[in-house]
Formats: sequence, C-alpha cells, structure tokens
Amino acid sequence: MIAPDLETAIDELQELVEGARVIAPFTGAGISTECGIPDFRSPGGLWTKNRPIPFDEFLASQAMRDEAWRRRFAMDAQFSAARPGRGHLALASFYRAGKAPAVITQNIDNLHQSSGISAEHVIELHGNNSYALCLTCGKRYELSWVRRQFTDARERAPDCTDCGGHIKTATVSFGQPMPEREMRRAEQLTLDCDLFLAVGSSLVVWPAAGFPLLAKRNGARLVIINREATEFDEIADVVIHQDIGTVLSPFIVH
Ligand code: NAD
Repeated sequence: MIAPDLETAIDELQELVEGARVIAPFTGAGISTECGIPDFRSPGGLWTKNRPIPFDEFLASQAMRDEAWRRRFAMDAQFSAARPGRGHLALASFYRAGKAPAVITQNIDNLHQSSGISAEHVIELHGNNSYALCLTCGKRYELSWVRRQFTDARERAPDCTDCGGHIKTATVSFGQPMPEREMRRAEQLTLDCDLFLAVGSSLVVWPAAGFPLLAKRNGARLVIINREATEFDEIADVVIHQDIGTVLSPFIVH
C-alpha cells in the first residue's frame, strides 16, 4: 500500500517499528544522496555520466584499470567530505536500541560505519571503496598509497608489491563474484527479521534485490522507502515515495 502522505507514512512506520522484534535495514545509494554522493539511476546519477567498468574489462586491460582509478580519485573529494545523513542516523538509532542487529547495505561509502554502527555489523554486499585490495593475494592497500603510485607513474594503476596482482578498490564490480560470507550473513538476518526496511534502492541489482523478496516470503513485513517506484512495491506492506531523510528523521535518537 502506498502511503498517501508524509504524516501517514511516518505514523505507519512508527507503528511497525514499535511492534517489530528484529528489524533488518537494507540500504542503497538513495540513503547517501543527501550526503553529496550521487546514486546510479537518478537523473544526474553516476550512470548518466559513466558506464560502470565490468570486472572482466578491469582484469583485461591496463587502460581500464587506469580509468577505474582515475574515476575513483575524481570522486575523492565527494567521498571524503560525506558525513552520515538523517537516514543513516535513524538506522544507527535502531541499532543502538537493539532493534536492528546489523545493517545490510549495497553501498560502498562507509557511511553506516561513520554513523556509529560497528564495522562488524555492517554487511557490505558490494564491498567498500575507502580502501583497496590485491585481487590475487588479498593484500590491503590504503588509497593514499595507491594515489601516490598512480600520480608518480603518470596515471598508471599500480600492481601489488608482493605478488604483482592487480589492485582494485575493495568493491564488487558487475561480473565479480559476490562475497560469500556477507551473502550468508545477509540471508540470515533477512530470515531472522520480522520487519525488513528497504531504504533508497531501486531494487534492480541482483542478487541483492532478492533479500526483500525473501523477507516477505518468510513472513516479515516489508517497507520500501524510495522516491521512485520499484518492482516490489506491490508486494510491500507499506511503500513510502518520499525523501528518505525527511521520513526517517523523527526516528533519530541522540
Ligand atoms: P540506485 O541508484 O539504483 O537507486 C537509488 C534509488 O534511490 C533510486 O530509485 C532513487 O529514486 C532513490 N533515491 C535517491 N535519493 C533519494 C532520497 N533522498 N530519498 C528517497 N529516495 C531516493 O541504487 P542501488 O539500488 O543502491 O543500486 C546501485 C548500485 O550502485 C549499488 O550496488 C551500490 O553499490 C552502488 N552505488 C553506491 C553508492 C554509495 O555507496 N553511496 C552510490 C552510487 C552507486
């Protein structure tokens, strides 16, 4: 059911949150747009500017790896200036209150951790772009190091100093295998919850989009908060087509 107005939406959400035993928040890029990080699919979003680089292309060519790092560094100011928004703070309040044991996120921006949720309770389905990993041996690299090498080598992406493997932000690109442990943990929380909150996701990226469906099939209530309609609106108990920060700010407890 689509909430007819903001006030009704907040009331309905309040009732569901109060009645819930376990909440599973599931977030997408829309929760971070008010923090200055564009999403993929909104007008002006990242896809209108650059087609994402699929994993096989990253592996296949030095030019693509150079381009991937060029894009990452071009967004550095945006990512490092970003602070958690009202949506992040509200979900952190559910976490502190013991209602949400963890957050499942498709985001790579580290903002749930910055909002006070312990890193071990942020289930990152698509990784994190605030550090990098060697794709062969798994060695961790800080972005400051990568940037120095990249700049010194006139915008050539560096390889691992230990094994020569390719270094990539610790994110999951299209075509790259999903992290198994995170997928298992997300599934477990989805099955444990009685209220699943999908916040700021177009719900078109699979397999992540399978979680709201699984929650609903398992008997949980499903709430979707997203400015635009999603394919799952018709199976949701409450659909809120409003701004995330506005809807969730009454739930922030300092
Ligand atoms: P998406 O871009 O496909 O969808 C975002 C949705 O959020 C859109 O439907 C949009 O209408 C809605 N939205 C944007 N701002 C909103 C607001 N203030 N209030 C209400 N709704 C709002 O994002 P997705 O579903 O997360 O999938 C895209 C993929 O892109 C994910 O895998 C994610 O890893 C990646 N991504 C991440 C970030 C980030 O980490 N912040 C940013 C861009 C893309």
